[in-house]
Amino acid sequence: MQKRELVYEGKAKKLFKTDDSDLYISEFKDDLTAFNGAKSSSEAGKGALNNKISTELFKLLDSRGIQTHFVKMLDDNHMLHKRADVILIEVIVRNIATGSLTRNLGIKDGTVLPFTLVEFDYKDDDLGDPKLNDQHALILGLVDYQDELDKLRRLAREINDILKPYFKDKGLNLVDFKLEFGKDSSGNIILVDEISPDNCRFWDINSGEKMDKDRFREGLGGLKVAYEDVLRRILGDSA
Ligand code: 5GP
Repeated sequence: MQKRELVYEGKAKKLFKTDDSDLYISEFKDDLTAFNGAKSSSEAGKGALNNKISTELFKLLDSRGIQTHFVKMLDDNHMLHKRADVILIEVIVRNIATGSLTRNLGIKDGTVLPFTLVEFDYKDDDLGDPKLNDQHALILGLVDYQDELDKLRRLAREINDILKPYFKDKGLNLVDFKLEFGKDSSGNIILVDEISPDNCRFWDINSGEKMDKDRFREGLGGLKVAYEDVLRRILGDSA
């Protein structure tokens, strides 16, 4: 499957058409950005690591009945996936308080939440991805019906119920993560984008070490080593 014209270039990926109008190719870039683009850098090999990690996690979720856009990994930096109309809502799932939850509500960093929190952010860089409630999402027309928002929350919880124990087994706490969804050509809501240390927080269960993009956000260094470690744990014996 060949890349055809560029449809869109985001901060971490480029999206290309293919000869099949139902299929697109994402190219995972080595670029790193944080704080809505205010901090940027690049790390050779980061894109390939995120492609490989996302591939394994999409396969896992597919095998557990979650519909995703994933078709196959084409090479180190390219993934073939279904075309979908992306819903402009970032679905944030949190098990442990940190990041903007801590900043916004003053909950102590590292607090294990009494239940999994699902939040919606408006996917709009110009506005800085503000928080949304259901009425905002409906007024903005980001979805057509309340049922669709309920479905996004339900899917996010189901995905967390699969990923949280999966990572615990591998010695990582799944602290929080961001999901994106879209509608495929039949109107089904499917998981899109990527699942990688760029949009998840992983803390080593024993040491508490951060194994995700916070290493870049907080200037800790060692980002690639951490992403490699996450991939190695995912691949386990087959690495
Ligand atoms: P926070 O709201 O604390 O900044 O982020 C919560 C979780 O969602 C983190 O795992 C973070 O990586 C992810 N996240 C939230 N917004 C974005 C975004 O715009 N881009 C990416 N890559 N991840 C995000």
